[in-house]
Amino acid sequence: MAQLFRHAESWRALGGNERRYDYVISGISQPSTGGNALTTQAQRSDLAAEVVAAAEHLFAAGVMSHAGHANLSGRLGADRFVLTTTGMVRDLRRDQLATVDLLGRVLEGALGPENAEIVAMHSVVYKTRPEVGGVIHTHSPAATAFALAHRPLPCRAEPLLRFGQAEPVPIVPWGPRGSDRSVRGIAEVLEANPTTAAVLLANHGLVAFGTDPLAAARLVVAIEEAAEAELSAAAIGGAADFPEGALDAVRASMARAHP
Ligand SMILES: [Zn+2]
Repeated sequence: MAQLFRHAESWRALGGNERRYDYVISGISQPSTGGNALTTQAQRSDLAAEVVAAAEHLFAAGVMSHAGHANLSGRLGADRFVLTTTGMVRDLRRDQLATVDLLGRVLEGALGPENAEIVAMHSVVYKTRPEVGGVIHTHSPAATAFALAHRPLPCRAEPLLRFGQAEPVPIVPWGPRGSDRSVRGIAEVLEANPTTAAVLLANHGLVAFGTDPLAAARLVVAIEEAAEAELSAAAIGGAADFPEGALDAVRASMARAHP
C-alpha cells in the first residue's frame, strides 16, 4: 500500500483529482493491466496532442483520401494506447481519443461503433512490435492503388529510407476490417517481415507505424509519395531499383541506430 500512496501523492502533484486517483487505484487492482496503470493524465494529454498533430500533418501533406478517413493511435504504456474515437479525423480534437488496452477493452472515453471494429488492427501492431509508439491507418489514394492491385509497394524512393522503410511494403491478404482473419493476417505478415514499418491491407488501405504518432504520419507521407512516383514512373518505362546492396546497407545502418 505504501507504494500506492506514493503514486497517489505524485498524482496529486500533477494536478490529478480524487476521481482520477480512484481510477489509478482501480487500474492497479486489475492484475491483467500490467505495470502501466500509473500513466499520468499529463502524459495522456501530451500524447493526445501528438496524435492531433499527426492527423494535421496528414491533411497538410495532402495524403488523405477524399473521405478524410483514418484512424490514429499512440502508445500510452506497454499495455495500452489512445485511439481516435471517430473514423473522420479532419479537424481532430484531443477529446476525440479513447484509451484502450491491448485486449480491446475501453479504459477511458468511448469508441464510436465504426472504430470499435478497428481496435485489434492497432493492438496487433503494439503487441507484435514493443518499440512502436504510433500506428496510423489511412486510405491514402496511391498507396491504396497498390493494395487494390495486391502489389507490394517497392522500395525505390529515397524518402522511404529516411522515414524507416528500407524494404518493400508487404500485402496482408484481405479480411473484413477488424476480423480475426484480417488481424491474424497482419500478425503473420509482421512476423514474416520483422523490419517492415508498414503493411498494405489488400483491397483496403495502409497501416504504417513508428516510434511515435508523428513518425508514423511522416512514414505515411513518404509511402504515399513513393506510391505516386511509382505510378508516374510506370508511364515512362517503370521505376528502377536502388543499386544492388544499397538497401541491405541502409537496413544495417538503421539497425545500428535503433538496435
Ligand atoms: Zn480503412
